[in-house]
Amino acid sequence: DLMIEFQQVYKSYGRGIDTLADVTFGIAQGEFVFVSGPSGAGKSTLLKLIAGLDVPNRGTVLVNGKNVGKLPGRFRPYLRRAIGTILQDVHLLSDRSAFENVMLPLTVTGHSRSAAAKRAHAAIERVGLSGKDGLRPQELSGGDQQRLAIARAIVNRPGLLIADEPTANLDRESARRIVEVFRDFNRVGVTTILATHDESLITDYATRVLLVKEGRVTDGGKRTPRLGGE
Ligand code: ADP
Ligand code: ADP
Repeated sequence: DLMIEFQQVYKSYGRGIDTLADVTFGIAQGEFVFVSGPSGAGKSTLLKLIAGLDVPNRGTVLVNGKNVGKLPGRFRPYLRRAIGTILQDVHLLSDRSAFENVMLPLTVTGHSRSAAAKRAHAAIERVGLSGKDGLRPQELSGGDQQRLAIARAIVNRPGLLIADEPTANLDRESARRIVEVFRDFNRVGVTTILATHDESLITDYATRVLLVKEGRVTDGGKRTPRLGGE
């Protein structure tokens, strides 16, 4: 069953240039997909179309069978819960603790404070931030800030997780550990899509690559990652 379907999708921001042109692919439930390509290729645009944060000029983007470009406003909150997003500008609130940052998405979904706190602690533990929940984001390392962003993205238990360059600005070892956090969520069933231009991460972890280049998306198909057995 396809969780995401692009059908002849075109996206341009004016100026007559197609940022994405004639893009068609599908992603099945449970996949772990890397979106690769040079800076400016259109990776962020692709992720924003999936998250419903942008709409195509032509073509169809389906998520869980729903046309996200044509989703009526009242279904937007549904989409926001179904998809955990970690976009480029990680909007962690600097005046709140890590714990309060993870609590935030739960306050809008109507959980009691105690149920929300239990979930927030579970999410913080899952990403390996136990003991740091009282710290403010700026007191955390770059890698731990990404972990916090992941905890906030998954705390509502979305079936789909998308992250845009989540390892930018991290050293190699921290970057690998962050990808392994995503891989762990994928292993418990969360469909996961990571955009990166880091070829070494793709070599080590990717089981499927969508290559974005000059507006076109090439499906690299299934592959065996170097660290596939771990
Ligand atoms: P990547 O994530 O691969 O670096 P992007 O999707 O951010 O690529 O950008 C692809 C192209 O689309 C770039 O040329 C960029 O300048 C352009 N672009 C992206 N977003 C916008 C926008 N909101 N307005 C105008 N141009 C944009
Ligand atoms: P609990 O049931 O107490 O929340 P779990 O160990 O089952 O504990 O889950 C830990 C956390 O993992 C969840 O609170 C949630 O933040 C996160 N999570 C998000 N999505 C999923 C998922 N699809 N499967 C498992 N865990 C998820």
